[in-house]
Amino acid sequence: MPARAQRPRLPETSEGQLKAKHAWNQGMTGKPRRPEQTAAVETCTAESCGTPASGPRPAPRMVQVRGAADGAAAHWYCPDRCAALARARADLRSIPMRSGGEAR
Ligand SMILES: [Zn+2]
Repeated sequence: MPARAQRPRLPETSEGQLKAKHAWNQGMTGKPRRPEQTAAVETCTAESCGTPASGPRPAPRMVQVRGAADGAAAHWYCPDRCAALARARADLRSIPMRSGGEAR
């Protein structure tokens, strides 16, 4: 027997439903949140974060992260979060993609 949460939800599209919803939330239609409030990853504000590693270490504690492909340029990043994100991005980009999308 399916649990209550698994029951299909019917869309609230009728005039009465929309009116009731509007009354319930006191007419508020909602304002979209600003991108900086919704972003899963906040933008780094460090000036030299992400600069190519061809130059010297731009700031103390900056970490050099390799590029995705062999021979791809490495870059300098902030030690913790930015470096982790850059490593993850490089890892994801180094995954070989099958040609033809999801075809098997
Ligand atoms: Zn950073």
